Amino acid sequence: MDDQMKILVIDDEKDIREGCVRVLKRIPGCAVSSAPNGTEGLDILRRDFFPVVLLDLKMPGLDGMDVLREIKKMEDKEILVIIITGFATVETAIDAMKHGAYDFIPKPFDPTQLRIVVERALDKIRLTREAEKLEQERQKTLADLDTEKSRISAIVKSLPNGVVVTNTAGQVVLMNPAFKNLLGLGEDATAGADISTYVADRGFCDLINEISRCDVSMESTEATYELVLDKNKFLMARGRPVLAESGECLGAVVTLGDISSLRILDQLKSEFVAKVSHELRSPLSTIHEQLGVVLKDMGQDVDAQEDQYILSRAKEKTSGLIALIGDLLDLSRIESGGVAHNIRRVPLDELLKSIVDFLGTRAKTKNQVLSFTPGQGPFPELTADPLALESIFGNLVTNAINYTPEGGRITVTLSMDGGRLRAEVADNGFGIDARHQEKIFEKFYRVKDENTRYITGTGLGLPIVKGLVEQMGGEIRLVSAPGQGTTFTVLLPVDK
Ligand code: ADP
Repeated sequence: MDDQMKILVIDDEKDIREGCVRVLKRIPGCAVSSAPNGTEGLDILRRDFFPVVLLDLKMPGLDGMDVLREIKKMEDKEILVIIITGFATVETAIDAMKHGAYDFIPKPFDPTQLRIVVERALDKIRLTREAEKLEQERQKTLADLDTEKSRISAIVKSLPNGVVVTNTAGQVVLMNPAFKNLLGLGEDATAGADISTYVADRGFCDLINEISRCDVSMESTEATYELVLDKNKFLMARGRPVLAESGECLGAVVTLGDISSLRILDQLKSEFVAKVSHELRSPLSTIHEQLGVVLKDMGQDVDAQEDQYILSRAKEKTSGLIALIGDLLDLSRIESGGVAHNIRRVPLDELLKSIVDFLGTRAKTKNQVLSFTPGQGPFPELTADPLALESIFGNLVTNAINYTPEGGRITVTLSMDGGRLRAEVADNGFGIDARHQEKIFEKFYRVKDENTRYITGTGLGLPIVKGLVEQMGGEIRLVSAPGQGTTFTVLLPVDK
């Protein structure tokens, strides 16, 4: 809308007309025009919009009342008419007000009176325009909010991943069709109840409750959980707390994706690797043994020294391959949830001592000090497969020897930590950079740098260790700094 206020003065008395124009032009932001009679005045009003009209009642030809009536017919224009009237016609002026005039000013009037009356009208117009603008903005905001709300709701509804939102009490406030579908809840399942009403898995519900209360320091990280519905259906849940701008905890948002095909592919790959490894093991062991026999037969034959060297290198390689195959088979047994057979009561302190004694010779070849210092006993016995425990600590101590330079120190300790046994293997060796620390528990991952370049290995030791520890309901932790050393801590639950 035009910000300039246009005023039209319609009066047959030239002095008054021109006097009005002069006074009103001085009001900032006003443009003033005039007409000497009603007919011309109406012509101007039909051509152009004047929000304020000063109208003399008594005029020859069309008088003020006729003009007022015509103006009121212009319904598309909101025009405020101020009647100019002589003393004798105050009643007519009141009559004119009844017919829709906005105000009146009796003649004679001085410039101040005129300004006051006109400025009152201008203020009203400004206020009306302001109110209209605010109303338009309010309507627009409401419309925007409405579209935004329905847009977000449509997006959440059509997401291929399941989405569930809980409040701080762990009650479901929103779930999309994909979530219901993945969990087989049925289309008409409604939100409102505790998460455990919809999902039976305790671990999943505990995690949701924990995130919902923002208990965990998860603001920047996401919590993940794998839901196994049956042997062919695997779901991956990823959750984060929902925080208000003020930092207040509002609940949790969790997405659910179907990872069944990935898991099944993983299983098939593991089965394939297990099968191949199994098939390779016997012929390789035979070759290994036969090489041993041939080497023994060659004895100290000086002429065959070169052949002997080649054959012993080949024998070394076959023993490396046999170790790799052993690791692969161990791993596939752990991954397929293979049960440990020889479960019995094992005193962990004795087992650690025998491992340290056994590997002491290897440490000595590198001039390392390998020691076992158990804390204050006696320690409760573990109920476990001793071979699995040997595999765990054998791997950790062998790694410590391998990744610690000559003359280093390796210490194995044992203590109690709450209801768990805590065994630590600490070295002052090369250490592991933070960016590798999570990855070294993945299959075949090996750190390749100046220190480790010439150390052979399969990258399967730590995945085996982690798999076995977790199978026993335990936990493995790692603290390491490059150049300072590494400590692996294994926590194992003792009998309840
Ligand atoms: P491997 O020893 O056969 O390479 P592992 O799975 O046992 O495989 O270990 C993976 C990687 O972790 C190693 O290649 C090594 O880089 C690193 N690592 C393991 N233990 C230690 C340790 N005590 N100190 C430094 N690095 C280690």
